[in-house]
Amino acid sequence: MQAKTHERMTVEVKQAIKIDERFYKVEEIRKLTEDTFSIRMPKGRFKFKAGQHISLGIHGDYQSREYSIYNGENDEFLEVLVKEVKDGYFSPKLSNLKPGNLVEVNGPFGKFRVDEKKIDDHKFVFVASGTGIAPFRSMVRTYPDMDYQIIHGVRYGYEAYDKNEYDPKRHVLCTTGDKSGDVHGRLTKYLKKETFDKSTQFYLCGNSNMIFDALEILKKKGFDRDQVHCEVYF
Ligand SMILES: Cc1cc2nc3c(=O)[nH]c(=O)nc-3n(C[C@H](O)[C@H](O)[C@H](O)COP(=O)(O)OP(=O)(O)OC[C@H]3O[C@@H](n4cnc5c(N)ncnc54)[C@H](O)[C@@H]3O)c2cc1C
Repeated sequence: MQAKTHERMTVEVKQAIKIDERFYKVEEIRKLTEDTFSIRMPKGRFKFKAGQHISLGIHGDYQSREYSIYNGENDEFLEVLVKEVKDGYFSPKLSNLKPGNLVEVNGPFGKFRVDEKKIDDHKFVFVASGTGIAPFRSMVRTYPDMDYQIIHGVRYGYEAYDKNEYDPKRHVLCTTGDKSGDVHGRLTKYLKKETFDKSTQFYLCGNSNMIFDALEILKKKGFDRDQVHCEVYF
């Protein structure tokens, strides 16, 4: 009888530990623009592959949303990049978080990852709209020597999140709302006129309209579908 009680208690304690492990204390909020910020948490024992995402909740709130992991695999912290959607349910709540608040992290999830076997002898083109740059920062921080190019589409130049972390020769900023980018216009305009190595691996991340347009352009350029990897945010 006593042994059974002990067994049950052990299970309960283990479950409590497991539940606790999903909660992380917000360590730092970094404001990048008026409506975009990053949330940093201690990484603890969390393991992931660059490009994957987490499901993020707020302690006491029933809902959660997906966010790409913004830091590299070897960083000591876990970070996400969030744009506050004005009429959204969850992102405005995230924007009110303060250091010390508890968030719930589940994951990692997803197969949007680089094939490590291809890193040494392939070119990588990362195509991002808005906060869709998040998984690419993780990939570049994890594999700094990879042969990559980022094509980032935003409205205004100040939305080039953490641009100074990338090699300027590898980062093309396309701006539609001002002329501060390398290209004035949509990123698809740049994608259309550029030529790429035949074995390039393409990664597309962001809103579905951009991804559908980019897929069409790459198809017309003759790239196989299995060279193109997609992560749709909305
Ligand atoms: C796999 C995956 C990874 C994601 N990673 C990120 C990330 O790294 N950063 C991030 O900010 N969002 C990311 N998102 C989107 C995120 O999960 C939420 O949808 C977003 O924060 C809006 O939530 P909300 O509750 O405020 O809006 P909701 O009330 O759920 O309203 C959703 C609407 O908000 C708009 N929207 C959603 N995401 C964005 C966005 N990023 N930029 C502009 N408008 C948007 C769309 O119009 C969408 O229909 C990701 C989504 C998926 C599926």
